[in-house]
Amino acid sequence: MPLPAPHFTPSANIARLRESATIAVSQRARALRAAGRAIIDLGAGEPDFDTPEPIRRAAQRAIDGGATRYTATQGTAELRAAIAAAASARRGEPITAEEVVVSSGSKQSIFNACTCLFGPGDDVLVPTPAWTSYYEIVSLARATPLPVIGDPTRGFRVTPAMLRAHATPRTRGVMLNSPVNPTGTVYSRDELRDLLALAADRGWWVISDEIYLRIAYDGPAASSLDVAPARDRLVVVDGVAKAYAMTGWRIGWTLAPPDLSRAMTAFQSHTTFNAAAPSQAAALAAIAGGPEIEAAVVGMVARFRERRDAACAILATEPRIALVPPEGAFYLFLRAPGAGRVPDAGTAFASRLLERYDVAVVPGAAFETPEWIRVSYAAERSQVEEAMRRIVSAWREADAAG
Ligand code: PMP
Repeated sequence: MPLPAPHFTPSANIARLRESATIAVSQRARALRAAGRAIIDLGAGEPDFDTPEPIRRAAQRAIDGGATRYTATQGTAELRAAIAAAASARRGEPITAEEVVVSSGSKQSIFNACTCLFGPGDDVLVPTPAWTSYYEIVSLARATPLPVIGDPTRGFRVTPAMLRAHATPRTRGVMLNSPVNPTGTVYSRDELRDLLALAADRGWWVISDEIYLRIAYDGPAASSLDVAPARDRLVVVDGVAKAYAMTGWRIGWTLAPPDLSRAMTAFQSHTTFNAAAPSQAAALAAIAGGPEIEAAVVGMVARFRERRDAACAILATEPRIALVPPEGAFYLFLRAPGAGRVPDAGTAFASRLLERYDVAVVPGAAFETPEWIRVSYAAERSQVEEAMRRIVSAWREADAAG
């Protein structure tokens, strides 16, 4: 959605900036709720659980113990050491704290990385559909995002051949994300290895966004750390928001080569400085884990899976609804009625669902796939089930209306 006409002359920095469609949906849902409508909000990409208690307690203790001041720009030594240790164990080779920069959320980490790596004249491949902010963040770096649409019959996965076909002499990087927002697709080890091998071969930087890694239903999802041939052009992005239900704490990080990490630290030192000290203490408790926290994470994933299964069973009652098989994260991606006939069918369907059925979802246009919608099942199971029944009714009604 373009921004409303401003009374100032926008700078070249924001010439192409669009509002976040996902946030716009949540705002509209909130406004309708304030007006007394019982909206089921399946728009937000946010776990509906509380942060596990031991993590909350650790933050409270940290505040009382003096975690109320600036920290090092790149994060506390303890948190970076814990992140590096976990990454080293996963990779099977030493990864040092010098390679870790903690920020105020993985969104900021992606912004830091794109700003430091890409600029005017650079192209960045974006397997599509993808999280709406990738296109905007690459554009804010004044580089050009090149959407590469995946194969809808294969969960919109992209292959090395597809990336090769879209690459230009100016291509400098590729954004990878698995499990994928918005489709719920999970790339296998082999698929991920092949994409990383192509990037290494071409000298492209890979930004691998692994924020949903723990939320996968058919065994552990592969990380780029498991299969990348080398790490000299790899930026792994992660954070605590999704797996630990910690969206509001705002902690994310990058694992990247030391010289890039130093550049991102310098950049962040002039923008936001360090992530909030109490939140860093909370993230440390989350990563350090322990049986109680591990059980909480496993429990949340189990509940996401139950909701996914319940949602899919209801959607399957209308066999004409095409749905990407949801393997991870907490999203369903389904084809809107009238797709192929009606322009921007996803937006029309999302607006029908909100205005007539009191269900908020995100139109696929936000992810460069305007014939689809994204439905989050990070909500109470009964709400998810009721919303799915309404989606089936709305789908049939819209389809019959042509
Ligand atoms: N990457 C993806 C794919 C996301 O969906 C989100 C949140 N919607 C983020 C990054 C940002 O998460 P954070 O809260 O860590 O900034």
